[in-house]
Amino acid sequence: MREPLVAVGVTLALVVAGAACRSEGASSAPDGGRLKVATTVAPITSIVSNIVGDRADVEGIVPEGTNSHTFEPRPSVAELLSEADVVYMNGLELEEPTKELAEQNLEDGAEVVELGTKAIPEHEYIYDFSFPEEEGKPNPHLWTDPTLAREYAEIVKDDMSDRDPDNADFYAANYEQFADLIDELDAAMREAFATVPQRKLLTYHDAYAYFAETYDWDVIGAIQVSDFEDPTPGEVAGLIDQVEEEEVRAIFGSEVFPSPVLEQIGEEAGVEYVDELRDDDLPGEPGSPEHSWLGLMRVNYITMTEALGGDASALEGVELRNVAPDTAEYPQ
Ligand SMILES: [Zn+2]
Repeated sequence: MREPLVAVGVTLALVVAGAACRSEGASSAPDGGRLKVATTVAPITSIVSNIVGDRADVEGIVPEGTNSHTFEPRPSVAELLSEADVVYMNGLELEEPTKELAEQNLEDGAEVVELGTKAIPEHEYIYDFSFPEEEGKPNPHLWTDPTLAREYAEIVKDDMSDRDPDNADFYAANYEQFADLIDELDAAMREAFATVPQRKLLTYHDAYAYFAETYDWDVIGAIQVSDFEDPTPGEVAGLIDQVEEEEVRAIFGSEVFPSPVLEQIGEEAGVEYVDELRDDDLPGEPGSPEHSWLGLMRVNYITMTEALGGDASALEGVELRNVAPDTAEYPQ
């Protein structure tokens, strides 16, 4: 008697899956199932999720609060990559070990899409303090500039629409709303930054190079050297002189990279040391509106504005939200 029962169970499951597909917007994945999308750092996972919503399975690879620049995926990530239809990465050499693992494990037809590499041409790459040109790795932090995050979202929208045409209208509508949200953030940033007496930035982690060009900030230095070790005593002395000469009001560290060196520079130069910037560690708990690319941008730019003597109320007025349900998995 056991065999027929099992057969009935299987038939029912297939009927239910088929009905769900038809009512929710069918995926055009080659196997008829939902597309599986892998991403790397959390801000990119959030941008992708704003476009894709619940129409595909989105899973991040780089745990929040780790150094994404030196991150080596565990061998178990190979399994996720072997099932992925597409891997959205930043590129600009940020995730080389993950890219290598992807290339070894992706099935035929699955692809790596480098959002940053597609967003700007090579001649716009910035090489600077922690990313000197002679070492060949450009500054990869395009997502801290909302105008470039919009490019990321557009590339995801176009690419997902090609892979999954049945949901193209959904992706296009999400992109339009996400672009509006970016316009709102962009306007609030410009309003808040206009109140900052001196837009000079000294950070530990060198994550604001593209942002600074777009929003007319002057990045006077980044303390983290290119091998992600601490600077030498001589370099520290030079930075203290520079902070005093430039008369900056505050210097910024990040949660991911606690820095006694930066604290020392702050003390010796007599300026405030603010260690609250976040590189790719989203604020709040997964599932909350704070835990988003928008939440990350808002908290960082409020922190900078206020520490440098500006008025961040325009930024505080930006309502935190995602434009599509964030059902992505964020490894912690
Ligand atoms: Zn970084």
